[in-house]
Amino acid sequence: MAELIGGGAEMISEVTSRPHKFTVYQPVYRLGERLERYYAISRTVTGALKVILKSRIHRLPHAAFGASIEITDRCNAGCNYCYVYPSEWTQTQRMAGYLNLSTHEHREQEKQVFATLARLHRQGIVHVTLIGGEPLLASKIIYKAAKLFPVVWVVTNGAAKHPVNLPRSVVMSVSIDGPPDLHNRTRDPSGFFAKQQYGYLTGMSAAIARNINESERGAFVHITLTQQSLSQFPATVDWLVTDLTKLRGIMVSGAATTSSDRSQALEIEDKQLIKQMIKDAADRYGWQLFPFNQPLVNSYLFDPEYVITNPAQCTVARRVDSIGFDGNIVGKCVLRDQTDCTTCACNLTGLMRAVSAQDKPSIAGLWRSCFG
Ligand code: SF4
Ligand code: SF4
Repeated sequence: MAELIGGGAEMISEVTSRPHKFTVYQPVYRLGERLERYYAISRTVTGALKVILKSRIHRLPHAAFGASIEITDRCNAGCNYCYVYPSEWTQTQRMAGYLNLSTHEHREQEKQVFATLARLHRQGIVHVTLIGGEPLLASKIIYKAAKLFPVVWVVTNGAAKHPVNLPRSVVMSVSIDGPPDLHNRTRDPSGFFAKQQYGYLTGMSAAIARNINESERGAFVHITLTQQSLSQFPATVDWLVTDLTKLRGIMVSGAATTSSDRSQALEIEDKQLIKQMIKDAADRYGWQLFPFNQPLVNSYLFDPEYVITNPAQCTVARRVDSIGFDGNIVGKCVLRDQTDCTTCACNLTGLMRAVSAQDKPSIAGLWRSCFG
């Protein structure tokens, strides 16, 4: 692997000329590490089952075994749809954080996040997703969470280098909007990453590809499709499969909108198209490319009979607490209360339904995502 890592730029142009073929990247595990992971995953499953059973026995409408936590208000990107930062903010301002805190105050904020993690651990939460801002700018918190929880997903824009020597509990998921040009336009309209170059790639997508390929254990990629990016899905998959040597799999969601913004919502025909495009890509590259979008998940996400009309029907809303910096719940889910559930095709909603229905391919996909 050393020459691949060292010779990134040359490797990229070489890979793009190869015929398409996808092999899942699997981090290397020694026997002892694997056994440790089995034990950690069994703790996760037992912990989740305990919460579910308890809530059924006591008829509790909401009992979470997972949590999604904002761990930093800092970010290095400038996405054109960002609701966190004013569009005119420079990268320096974003890196300082939207709370405009002093260094001392930021430390206090960090302590608050540590306290939240400790509370969730005591509460019996077994799976956490770390979000931001950009969580890779708060790596101390990632290491802390990795010690407390058996499975930790980090949702990142991928523009910063991945932390090294992460415990095996940590799994990286990089958010992608579309093929390199589209991604650069939507995620970096101000050109913060304009000087980045990796093989033929430029801009933020170059930084992302380099950081994944040079990371210790690779990453999953999460594509969230909108009406605008829909038609570019096949090109996005081709790009990722061709240029990411440490691609662990692709997760696909459809973007949700607020009730006041229904004109942007994906129509049922759009959702059916996504379902078909995933199938076409899976026929080409294998279903192992889509561990979280196995056929039953895609039915739950994209077929009209499974549309979720309110949070009470959503396993994510019922089983995952969405928590802000201050330790308080931010809404029914990370998308906040104003998001209209009927427009939502968030992958986790379908994945959790399929796992509850004991769908073996979906359980196998989830299993893969527990090995960081
Ligand atoms: S990565 Fe998130 S927080 Fe950062 S600019 Fe983009 S949308 Fe905003
Ligand atoms: S917006 Fe989506 S994830 Fe959130 S509660 Fe509704 S269906 Fe669930």
